[in-house]
Amino acid sequence: MEIITVSSEFASANSYLLVDETTNDAAIVDPGGDAQSLIYSIHSNAVRVTSILLTHGHFDHILALREIKEYTNAPVYVHRLDAPCLTNPEFSMMSLVGRSDTFDPADVLLEDNDTIRIGNSTVTVMYTPGHTVGSVCYITDAGIISGDTLFYESIGRTDFPGGDFDSIDASIQRIYSREGDETLYPGHGAETTVSHERMFNPFVRQRK
Ligand SMILES: [Zn+2]
Ligand SMILES: [Zn+2]
Repeated sequence: MEIITVSSEFASANSYLLVDETTNDAAIVDPGGDAQSLIYSIHSNAVRVTSILLTHGHFDHILALREIKEYTNAPVYVHRLDAPCLTNPEFSMMSLVGRSDTFDPADVLLEDNDTIRIGNSTVTVMYTPGHTVGSVCYITDAGIISGDTLFYESIGRTDFPGGDFDSIDASIQRIYSREGDETLYPGHGAETTVSHERMFNPFVRQRK
């Protein structure tokens, strides 16, 4: 699987294309920024988007969802507990940007360890609550899409509704406890690796 980053100027939010190179089928993760740059990236990489995956339901990860869903006709996947964000702008925090957008309900509600097929590749859902009650990471053979759970030397805020520090701490311990090293593709800012965060993350230290 190949991971292509599409960064938005807005809040340094990242969307990702998870591309199965054998078929050029792809998932688009977190269509948050500007729909035009996402559509450009779909075109220039000549991929067919077969699913839209959300790491969680905050506004900065779904602002382009309607356009991308219309453009791709792909089903939308979100964890069961963040699904209300699509239909209730209070849960998606839309008011922070002075908007009250709502969306069609999600097509597929996710649980921990669910798998999603993209061409001949498989993505596994890791339930990682704490930033929101329904936050997930997506595990691929090219790295982990970590949403707003784990960033380069930082972690997601836990002071929004549904946020909880003990939960995000436990979720991040679960990421740290994975074997070996993997690249982390966060919802905002630069890529990092699990080993770097195990050593240097100042907010959540690895417990032995
Ligand atoms: Zn968020
Ligand atoms: Zn975010």
